[in-house]
Amino acid sequence: MACFKLENVEDLYEIGDVLGKGHFGTVRQVREKATDSLYAGKFVKIRKSRSSRLGQERESVEREVEILQLLQHPNIMSLKEVFECKAEVVLILELISGGELFDFVAEKDILTEAEAIEFMKQILLGLSYMHSKNIAHFDLKPENIMLQGKDVPHPNIKLIDFGLARRLQEGEEYKSLCGTPQYIAPEIVNYEPLTVAADMWGIGVITYILLSGTSPFQGETDAETMNNIMAVNYEFDQKHFSQTSAMGKDFIEKLLVKNYRERMTAEECLIHPWIKPLNKKQVAHRSRSSINMKNFKKFNARRKWKVSYNMVWACNRMCRMKLLCKNAVKDEEALRQCESDQEDIDTKPASLIRRRLSSSS
Ligand code: ATP
Repeated sequence: MACFKLENVEDLYEIGDVLGKGHFGTVRQVREKATDSLYAGKFVKIRKSRSSRLGQERESVEREVEILQLLQHPNIMSLKEVFECKAEVVLILELISGGELFDFVAEKDILTEAEAIEFMKQILLGLSYMHSKNIAHFDLKPENIMLQGKDVPHPNIKLIDFGLARRLQEGEEYKSLCGTPQYIAPEIVNYEPLTVAADMWGIGVITYILLSGTSPFQGETDAETMNNIMAVNYEFDQKHFSQTSAMGKDFIEKLLVKNYRERMTAEECLIHPWIKPLNKKQVAHRSRSSINMKNFKKFNARRKWKVSYNMVWACNRMCRMKLLCKNAVKDEEALRQCESDQEDIDTKPASLIRRRLSSSS
């Protein structure tokens, strides 16, 4: 069982602005009083009872912490310490200040494949490190790929959000229906035992989007998206891939493979000629090919809109809960500590329901 410090986090850290929100946590900038150093504090409400639907199960937070404690890599967000106070756990994390990779790319007018590959390489280095420890992320998506300092010539990739990550044990099966439809592997859709290869499918989807600005399996509905995934129904439409190198397409093709045993591993990706060219001709191909920026900007704007829409949905739900809360809490700080455990009878978005259907077997 992970050990959390019982001191009051506010005695040691000054709590600052909100940096982001997820299904289960609010992330705020925090300043360590003793050193003046800045960190990110992820505040997670702990579920009061098994039957309750509000907050996160303690077991899940412990798992996220245990996994982060096992990971020390330049391309993976690091964990400093963890506090527990009343019904809230606070993870003190490395502050990642450069925003999301996709937002950084969308601000550019042109981006060559060679530049995009530098980012992919860092993602793969982080993943191959995790996979070597038999840890799978299971939630790779643009929102979870951030940059450390975007104002430097070569920003550093940081993988975040290990809320769905698992350490896979030999001889034990792990099945889950978790993840975001667009990015999930066929074995997740099929509720089959999972391996680290599920992350590699996600890398295929992310690379496809990065190069073309279109999502390979996205349908009108989640059901349609999942049917497309199961049928591996995607193509390299000339309209979107006219600027893409043959090596880039080959890289994607070797990842979007239904049989996870035949999918490229992170280690294999790192020696694929698209990532590690074998000769000058291959280097030249990568520099001549570029990202479809017009499409990419459109994709990113739509993606941001969807994230904001979900956030408004979540805020509305919070407001309703506040109104329901018998002992109305006055300020935000007190609200954070309020052990609110109102049951929410609203219909939840499919993504949230899916996140809760996770199980080990
Ligand atoms: P999800 O609903 O995706 O599972 P979550 O509740 O697990 O989310 P995170 O994804 O870990 O929460 O964090 C929510 C948001 O907070 C992120 O999308 C990001 O914008 C921001 N964030 C998370 N960690 C950091 C960090 N270390 N530094 C800066 N911002 C961060």
